[in-house]
Amino acid sequence: MGDCMTYIILDLEWNGAYSKRARGYFNEIIEIGAVKMDESLTQKDTFHAVIRPVVSRKLSSIVKDLTGIEAAELEEGRSFPRAISQLNKWISDPEAVVMTWSKTDLLVLLENCRYFLKEDRIPFINYYADLQAYCQSRMDIGSSQQIGLGKVIEFFGLNGEELAMHRALDDSIMSGKVFAHIFEPESFRLHIKKTDDEFYGRLQFKTSIISDINDDHVNKSDFRFRCEACNKRLRRTSKWIFRSRAFCADFVCRSCNRKYSARVQVKMKYDGAETNRKLVIRPDEQNKTQDEEKT
Ligand SMILES: [Zn+2]
Repeated sequence: MGDCMTYIILDLEWNGAYSKRARGYFNEIIEIGAVKMDESLTQKDTFHAVIRPVVSRKLSSIVKDLTGIEAAELEEGRSFPRAISQLNKWISDPEAVVMTWSKTDLLVLLENCRYFLKEDRIPFINYYADLQAYCQSRMDIGSSQQIGLGKVIEFFGLNGEELAMHRALDDSIMSGKVFAHIFEPESFRLHIKKTDDEFYGRLQFKTSIISDINDDHVNKSDFRFRCEACNKRLRRTSKWIFRSRAFCADFVCRSCNRKYSARVQVKMKYDGAETNRKLVIRPDEQNKTQDEEKT
């Protein structure tokens, strides 16, 4: 990438509808808003398109209440392929870093590109950054929770009152203000991803939990435990059963007689299996020890 950076921040509004062709629920994009910034982080231009829905003309009440978009406004909208081709021209820089607030918008965009353009890639994004993830890293918030744009604006005391939340253009403008506020070149560079095969693989990968103990990704040695008190190998006193998304079994220490419950969870992630092990003293045993101490 050169020194002249272009940053694009996209925001979408969509309407959930049943699609006969997709044989399921489909999130149909009805509005696209975007801001363009240069390396000085000044807003250079904006893009706005209302899209005429074709899968479902009926707006869900949630979308209606949230966005305030009227049916009449949508009827005058352009088609999705036309809006995308115009957006593509508007971005113009193939090295632009395109951002959305969380990957949800990106996934919905991909879903619409598949449906309307028969494309397996989003044609105008060559470099991507998840603005929400970047923001959370700058605020020192872990990735286990997801923070909303409104909360962030409030947190930084950025003025957003003159803009209506949940309209695509206003949301992208607010996201742009947040980006300009938190941007720091070194840390941001780490968040820029080239949209190659691995990028799309990760984006669409769904983490799953293994429920079959004989699965090839299950490592037998992860199912052995040692006593926390005397470090002796524990003896299993029950079968492994799969319960509450993990394998569970009871153990006993033959040396000190402590009784334990063990939990092993094996998650299949994009990078491979990840195992979490937990060993706890059985509650009834804990009480018994405490009672013994009292007497
Ligand atoms: Zn022991």
